[in-house]
Amino acid sequence: MILRTQTSSVQVRYMQTHKPPFRIIIPGRVFRQEATDASHEHTFHQFEALVVGEKVSVANFLYIAETFFSQFFGKKLNVRLRPSYFPFVEPGFEFDISCTNCEGKGCSSCKQTGWLEVGGAGMVHQNVFEAAGYEKGKYQGFAWGFGLERLAMMKYKIDDIRHFHGGDVRFTRQF
Ligand SMILES: [Zn+2]
Repeated sequence: MILRTQTSSVQVRYMQTHKPPFRIIIPGRVFRQEATDASHEHTFHQFEALVVGEKVSVANFLYIAETFFSQFFGKKLNVRLRPSYFPFVEPGFEFDISCTNCEGKGCSSCKQTGWLEVGGAGMVHQNVFEAAGYEKGKYQGFAWGFGLERLAMMKYKIDDIRHFHGGDVRFTRQF
């Protein structure tokens, strides 16, 4: 028995019992062996999405991500992809949003880059679909995952992730 470190296990169980097309979101508490500091906590919430169908593409991911983050922050934001590797997606990428503070001009929040790192994503590897019992090559899909606390920290300008589980009611009451 081990405390889960991510919520991707939910994707697997969902695919074992459902056929595409489907769109699911998977919010859940996860646990990490971390040396904690202002941006690392041993307990936080992961927010995953999995969208699978016959014609799902990276363009769908970009549109949904831009719509989601723009609505969450209440302003038009752009999403940028950077190539990355995760074993269960191909291609895999990390994604950034345009800085919610300076809107891309460059400031101390975004280390003058104009972008904020949000999470990881990618097109689901065909081997994953095959393992789920889907017909080979028939479906495509994307998955993303990011930390919910990190997003709340950006939106409400919270400087330390440890406040969330710190137990100080002055922190929670302000919401
Ligand atoms: Zn900035």
